[in-house]
Order: sequence, then structure tokens, then C-alpha cells
Amino acid sequence: MNNESLIAELNNTIDNIPDFPIPGIQFKDITPIFLNPKLYEAVIADFVNFSKGKIDVVCGIESRGYLFGIAIAVALEVPFVLIRKKGKLPPPFISQKYNLEYGTSEIEMKTDQIKENQRVLIHDDLLATGGTTEAAAKLVQQQGAIVSQFSFLIGLNELKGKEKLKHFQADIYEILSY
Ligand code: AMP
Repeated sequence: MNNESLIAELNNTIDNIPDFPIPGIQFKDITPIFLNPKLYEAVIADFVNFSKGKIDVVCGIESRGYLFGIAIAVALEVPFVLIRKKGKLPPPFISQKYNLEYGTSEIEMKTDQIKENQRVLIHDDLLATGGTTEAAAKLVQQQGAIVSQFSFLIGLNELKGKEKLKHFQADIYEILSY
């Protein structure tokens, strides 16, 4: 599938749900992608093409970052490391707080799974404000690894997530930008 038809098919497949889970949010429901194995394969091939030869580890952000992240890692024959919400991982781990629109949240990562100087791809399904991804990148940097790439299925441009990620000087890829 070429890039244009991939984008067209994804646009026809992903549902936009207005005012979910709260008023004002345009929720992107990506679950119909998993009903279509050929489309899923094409998405993975596109992500793999972006990262091939450029990374040593994939870090996926809970939970939708796992849906594509593991397949990307397997295709590239590199390890996959989970970044989880607070309270789910056994020690040893490190934590990073970040701001949400209202309040704060926290994510965690095990400290015995990535090594110093490894080149890391941080992957999630969607980049909104960038708060979650920035916190994930800090966890990777705190362990002496290199944040080399970010990839997302969807980027919501008006929320300016990319600006929050600029200072990592990593390549950023979004298959769809809204
Ligand atoms: P953020 O930290 O603001 O970049 O939020 C990113 C995380 O929130 C991702 O893991 C997404 O799965 C989820 N998310 C944020 N906004 C949306 C949206 N409009 N539709 C679906 N998921 C969203």
C-alpha cells in the first residue's frame, strides 16, 4: 500500500467521536483498524520504514502504544519496553509526574530493561498535548539512553504536542496529522 492510500484508508477507518469522554474532546477511536489485518500490516510496515536501522529499543506507552509498538519491535528485531501507569510495575522502576489539563498523572518504567546509549523509539497511538510522551522521554533520558525517535499514528496539531518534544532533538513521525 502506498502512503497516500494508507492515509486514505486510515481516514475512512478511524472513528471520530465528538464530546467523548468529556465535552469538547474529539475522541479518535482506532479500534476498527484491528478488524482489518491488511490495514494493520500496512501501518506496521510504515512505522517500520521510519525506524529501520535507526533504533535499538522500542518503548511503548500504556496502553494503546502497545498495540503497534510490540509489532514494530518484533519486525525490527529489537526489544520492547513497557511504559506503564503508576502502580502496575514491580521494582526496580522510576517514575515521572506530568500535568494533565486538570491535575497530574504519573508513569513508570523498569530500570533494568534499557541500557546507556541505546537509541530509543518512543511510540504511542496519539500525540495530543505531548505531556505523556514528554514524561516518557524523560524516563528514557534519566537512564542514559538516547531519545532518537517518536512515532504516532495520529498527531493533533492544534494541541502543539510537537513543540513540547522539540528539545529532545529527535525525529518525529505521525502517519496522520489533524
Ligand atoms: P497527551 O499527553 O495530551 O499527548 O495525550 C496523549 C494520550 O492520551 C495518548 O495516549 C492518547 O491515547 C490519549 N488521547 C488524548 N487525546 C485523545 C483523543 N482526542 N482521542 C483519543 N485518544 C486521546
